[in-house]
Amino acid sequence: MPMSKLWQAAVDQLEQDHDLPEEQFALLLNESDPALSAYLAERASAVRNRFFGRDIYIRGLIEFTNYCKNDCFYCGIRNSCKNVNRYRLNEEQILSCCGTGYALGFRTFVLQGGEDPYWNDQRLCSLISAIKSAYPDCAVTLSVGERSRESYQRLFDAGADRYLLRHETADPSHYRRLHPENLHFEDRIRCLRDLKEIGFQTGCGFMVGSPGQTTDCILKDLQFIHSLQPEMVGIGPFIPASGTPFESQHIGSSSLTLKLLSMIRLMFPRVLLPATTALGTAEADGRQQGILAGANVIMPNLSPASVRKKYSLYDNKLSSGEEAAESVEQLRRSMEKIGYRIVTDRGDYPSE
Ligand code: SAM
Repeated sequence: MPMSKLWQAAVDQLEQDHDLPEEQFALLLNESDPALSAYLAERASAVRNRFFGRDIYIRGLIEFTNYCKNDCFYCGIRNSCKNVNRYRLNEEQILSCCGTGYALGFRTFVLQGGEDPYWNDQRLCSLISAIKSAYPDCAVTLSVGERSRESYQRLFDAGADRYLLRHETADPSHYRRLHPENLHFEDRIRCLRDLKEIGFQTGCGFMVGSPGQTTDCILKDLQFIHSLQPEMVGIGPFIPASGTPFESQHIGSSSLTLKLLSMIRLMFPRVLLPATTALGTAEADGRQQGILAGANVIMPNLSPASVRKKYSLYDNKLSSGEEAAESVEQLRRSMEKIGYRIVTDRGDYPSE
């Protein structure tokens, strides 16, 4: 059979069964024919449109602290990065970001930060309750790293709806390559399982092209995501960050990221799938391309302009223009150009 027939059959099978034998997944990952990416994007968009129509959900991202006790080798706000200007927003500043976001049509606020011990359960729970009582029609998503099950339960009981914790890699030896000795693959996975069991809408994910990542690692990622059945999946290209051990490594491939977005959409038709800031940073029209590949979420930045540059996860991270929440109108127009519309909606995981 000609190669194009082989990959077309694999895509059709993935759409139908939401799964594939490993060799078929590997075939799709390793084939570089642009016609495959185009076919994947076409099928993924059709599947996404069946569940979500042309609606794109927006999430207001509030990067509320760049203090971090961890030292992940890839991350520009790792503890050892001494050139980072550290900041921490207070509750009042965070509520003011939510107010700005609400007026712009945001109905989900994502609180993301480094693992900052200042934000203990008591402070975080008080913040969550304050946001939920001021904006009862909004969802609160947390992305603050690894915590104990008891802590996650308290955050959930305080009203948090969703939690994003990328697993980063499902291959234990690759995990070791990306993290220092005190961080453990098993802990990361335990956290994700706890979050699901507690009842959070849970997001996992990984960087595409992180140093040492092989096709086999990505196959394990897909298998892990399949076993977790998350409501959200966040993937974006790895982008080197100055001052980190990986500062001279290559950037991850945008085209592989786009293929993976399409494959994940076909595996999990109802999943909430962002076209990430990293993809928008790697490619000028990365977020539009992400939507056309099957994504249905965009997370503009709602942090105060004065701190945006300080949340420097990687070099040249977007923080103005369409990336900024103030420019929702601009974003709306750029989505309309490709046939989609930004909606004012919490955008929960759809029930069957
Ligand atoms: N501290 C929390 C955690 O670890 O989940 C949330 C913040 S962390 C900075 C958010 C995500 O940024 C990570 O899960 C990682 O995948 C991504 N990230 C960090 N450094 C990156 C880089 N150099 N390129 C692309 N993404 C990166």
